[in-house]
Amino acid sequence: MTDWVEETLHKDLHIKLKADRVLFDSESAHQRLVLFENATFGRVLALDGVMQTTEKDEFIYHEMLSHPPILAHGRVRKVLIVGGGDGGMLEEVLKHRRVEKVTMVDIDDTVIELAKRHLRTICGEAFEDPRTDLVVADGIEFVASCQERYDVIIVDSTDPIGPGEALFTADFYESCKTCLTPGGVLVTQNGVPFLQSGELAATMTCLRPLFADAGCYLATVPTYVGGPMAFGWASDDPALRQVTVEMLKDRLAEAGIEPCYYTPEVHLAAFALPPYIAELLG
Ligand code: SAM
Repeated sequence: MTDWVEETLHKDLHIKLKADRVLFDSESAHQRLVLFENATFGRVLALDGVMQTTEKDEFIYHEMLSHPPILAHGRVRKVLIVGGGDGGMLEEVLKHRRVEKVTMVDIDDTVIELAKRHLRTICGEAFEDPRTDLVVADGIEFVASCQERYDVIIVDSTDPIGPGEALFTADFYESCKTCLTPGGVLVTQNGVPFLQSGELAATMTCLRPLFADAGCYLATVPTYVGGPMAFGWASDDPALRQVTVEMLKDRLAEAGIEPCYYTPEVHLAAFALPPYIAELLG
């Protein structure tokens, strides 16, 4: 019998991915975890009925949520990742040689252990990197009491249901702001605007009064159906959005990274918004 794993995220649209082999299916203290193999997407992680990451297209999401803020900033030493239990974001950020420390805070160590055991194509050796500081905690509590300051904060969260809900609140974004160094950047995963317009609009309503520059940029990730995905961008330094292709090319070369999706041209183009998305920024 063929198994299909159904995504139940959207009210009027459910997709199913064929599960050729189920590697893990269990409930943690925070969420239900299902890990399975699909011939097109490779290994797929689903949490609470929502596809999180897949071996075949994770590079798009992870590159586009890490390289734009780090390369636009240009002098990043410390990065905070909130969520990101699969380790893909950690692995991508650690490719930047100048980054000295990456703190990753995920609420669920079951996701981390699963990634170490079954998703090495995604996380590589990132969890063992000496620059990695791994914290198992609720992200909202971590940023509320954190004394450290970060040049870039990446919110690699689940959608605003279950444990991820708190990571879309004004209190959380306010705490993130206090954890940033002056001129630092906060980026957030904000879903697919065509299907989740309210999510992006709500985040923007929170970020606009907090930061001198708040907006979003886009990338299309096959796993997240419904059109391009939006990433929130917030900083008190609007100049970070005035970087040129030449500046980004120099910084990318200096970092020694060869991405599969990100290029300096893609970076700048990602900020061009179609009107149906631009109007959600308010
Ligand atoms: N790329 C994914 C996406 O777009 O859906 C997100 C991937 S990552 C697996 C999401 C992580 O957020 C999970 O490991 C989950 O445990 C973590 N998470 C959810 N709520 C959290 C919270 N309140 N604090 C810290 N981590 C949280």
